[in-house]
Amino acid sequence: MASDQRRGFNDGLAMANSYYAATARPAPSFPKLDGSIEADLVVVGGGATGLSAALHAAERGLSVVLLEGGRIGWGASGRNGGHLIPGMRLSAPTLVKTFGVERARELFELALEARSLMVDLIARHGIDCDLKLTGHLSAAVKPADMRDLAEEVECLNTVMGYPHAELLSAEEARREVDSPYEGGLLDRLGGHFHPLNYTLGLATAAQDAGVQIFEGSTAIALEKGARVLVRTAGGQVLARHAVLAGDALMGRLEPKIAGHIMPVANYVVATEPLANARELIPHDVAVADTRFVLNYYRMTADGRLLFGGGERYTPNPPRDMASFVRPYVEGVFPQLRGVRIDHAWGGLVSITMTRMPHVGRDGSIHFAHGYSGQGAILSTYTGKVLVQAILGDDRAFQALADLRPPAFPGGAALRAPLHVLGMLWYAFRDRI
Ligand SMILES: Cc1cc2nc3c(=O)[nH]c(=O)nc-3n(C[C@H](O)[C@H](O)[C@H](O)COP(=O)(O)OP(=O)(O)OC[C@H]3O[C@@H](n4cnc5c(N)ncnc54)[C@H](O)[C@@H]3O)c2cc1C
Repeated sequence: MASDQRRGFNDGLAMANSYYAATARPAPSFPKLDGSIEADLVVVGGGATGLSAALHAAERGLSVVLLEGGRIGWGASGRNGGHLIPGMRLSAPTLVKTFGVERARELFELALEARSLMVDLIARHGIDCDLKLTGHLSAAVKPADMRDLAEEVECLNTVMGYPHAELLSAEEARREVDSPYEGGLLDRLGGHFHPLNYTLGLATAAQDAGVQIFEGSTAIALEKGARVLVRTAGGQVLARHAVLAGDALMGRLEPKIAGHIMPVANYVVATEPLANARELIPHDVAVADTRFVLNYYRMTADGRLLFGGGERYTPNPPRDMASFVRPYVEGVFPQLRGVRIDHAWGGLVSITMTRMPHVGRDGSIHFAHGYSGQGAILSTYTGKVLVQAILGDDRAFQALADLRPPAFPGGAALRAPLHVLGMLWYAFRDRI
């Protein structure tokens, strides 16, 4: 982590050039922490996990301080693809194979609770975030992918008792997206939203509930004793409990948990507003294809194609992010060749070895991270679950904590080179 300047923190990935920053609703800015402060709970991280924890704790009567190193929503929560994908990152059949039917059902239920929570919060706090519950399409690239999707629909419908997923033929998929696919899985409870406006809305709700929020206030040291002490460059917070919600940007603040996740940079563009938006995606679904390094895309409220594609396993972003993503856009939609790209930015996705989140506690510290590219819905819920655990209700917390994804081989120091080799292999397989 570089500086704790409000605008400098995590700016290497050009958040300021993002479509979301350009269309952010007016929101309060928050001061830097200056001096010493005490609270029941200190939260590190102003993304959806941290803000949700802070909001739910304040609603339950705790005094809460939230420290954000950059600006609210400057991490993945304010720059992601905005796809709302019901369920866990692992498919339903994989959940069943890995955890058995009963636990798989329990995990899937939690994920559905997560979706309901998010929809409720948006309604309850009147968060204006372009929420569209128009569906999510997993689009099959290879014939073999159709077999997997058929198995998934069957498992969702029968084992999970989830009637909202259906298998689409190539022709039916073409009615959803004007690009040739083998077919797809349409989940009617999916959709998309404006993640930064959602995150800013959560911050306003948290502030209204009494949370003291500080931006430009990177937590640089954590001391555990009878109480937890979190230090920033300008001050410190002494609290009974801490929630660590820094995800891919947390660095080595707590090395014991850092080695369980691996940050992978992913790049996103938004085109100019398109006259033919409704021809490309007639029913406004969000689409992700079945490649290992997937293409994911959807329309924005003002008719732009917002498209994520391409990962890089080197620490340095491409010099020109728009040119880096353009071939992926034009590969899916050749009809958009030469389209103007108005916004290009990147973000860090935190993945775990098992692609299931790493959630847990160490004394008075609770943490959650590593949603592996599917945290837009789960992060808000997990923040609430951490607070429930702090207040003595462990039901959902334990189900998530029991997932225990292992640390990456080599820990925080060596995880990158080893994992990069693995990722490159899968990316190569995509190409052949
Ligand atoms: C490019 C991209 C596309 C994605 N697309 C999707 C998608 O379409 N659908 C989906 O479901 N998921 C998607 N994801 C994943 C999803 O965005 C994340 O899982 C989720 O936002 C994580 O939320 P969080 O609050 O845990 O972390 P973040 O939103 O990253 O928040 C962590 C915050 O903590 C702050 N922080 C870190 N360390 C410190 C410290 N020491 N002191 C103070 N503050 C600190 C950071 O500045 C940051 O603001 C995507 C992610 C990326 C990067």
